Amino acid sequence: MWVTNGLRSGIVFTLVKTDPDAEPRHKGMTCFICEKEPGVGENTGEYAGFTVPPQLKKMGYKGVESTELVFDGYKCPAENILGGEDAGLNKGFAQMMDALEVGRVNVAARGVGLAQRAFELGIRYAQERKTFGKPIAEHQAIYFKLADMGTQIEAARMMTLKAARMKDAGERSDLEAGMAKLFASEAGRFCAEESLRIHGGYGYSKEYEIERLYRDAPLLLIGEGTSEIQKMVIGKKLLQRYKI
Ligand SMILES: Cc1cc2nc3c(=O)[nH]c(=O)nc-3n(C[C@H](O)[C@H](O)[C@H](O)COP(=O)(O)OP(=O)(O)OC[C@H]3O[C@@H](n4cnc5c(N)ncnc54)[C@H](O)[C@@H]3O)c2cc1C
Repeated sequence: MWVTNGLRSGIVFTLVKTDPDAEPRHKGMTCFICEKEPGVGENTGEYAGFTVPPQLKKMGYKGVESTELVFDGYKCPAENILGGEDAGLNKGFAQMMDALEVGRVNVAARGVGLAQRAFELGIRYAQERKTFGKPIAEHQAIYFKLADMGTQIEAARMMTLKAARMKDAGERSDLEAGMAKLFASEAGRFCAEESLRIHGGYGYSKEYEIERLYRDAPLLLIGEGTSEIQKMVIGKKLLQRYKI
């Protein structure tokens, strides 16, 4: 379920349980590079058994497709095991986790971008809209919103850059990537809602961009691991680092 670009892709990395009896259970998984025809729902010939049902309907993030993928009788040759059969068989979990580290920095960066845009829209509107004889930006309640948004964005950006630099340098960055992803995606959701509130009734109108950001923001709390899962990863890693 929920495969981004599932229809238009020509290859799909698929994590498969290849040794159901393995202990611990994550050691029995292999990553297959599954090939198919890009843009084709019902594959035939060498890709028969690989079907892409119609796209899933979503609340936001409508710029990219999201699909289900159905494998029924599909055959993938052993040479398509990621890393080769010798090195890759039952090594899929670690490979996927490595990819998730990059993915989490990616989502963190999207959280920063979404939060930044929501902030820009909010701080502009706050100076344009007047109530009780002055721009709403001059009401203390709105100051506080701008201050909270600006502060969260600054922190989220720094955390994201740190995690990205570590990944670039080839260092293990699961803790930092998890923290950046958690904080920046929550900052994106927070800033989208605060900016929507600053827009008053217009925040609820499709005429204003903030309405779309408000619908897009929750995906970042879910994709590449939910906030709850990030907290599990972070807690576990902290206990490893600070073990007494
Ligand atoms: C638009 C979109 C695009 C996506 N694109 C892709 C993609 O391209 N490739 C891909 O692989 N995936 C993709 N995903 C899937 C996404 O990564 C998962 O939906 C996400 O990781 C959550 O998993 P789940 O849906 O199975 O939720 P569940 O695991 O069923 O979670 C449900 C709830 O239970 C909580 N929960 C689950 N387990 C625990 C636990 N152990 N401890 C505490 N709380 C827990 C979760 O935090 C959540 O609140 C996409 C999802 C969406 C919505």
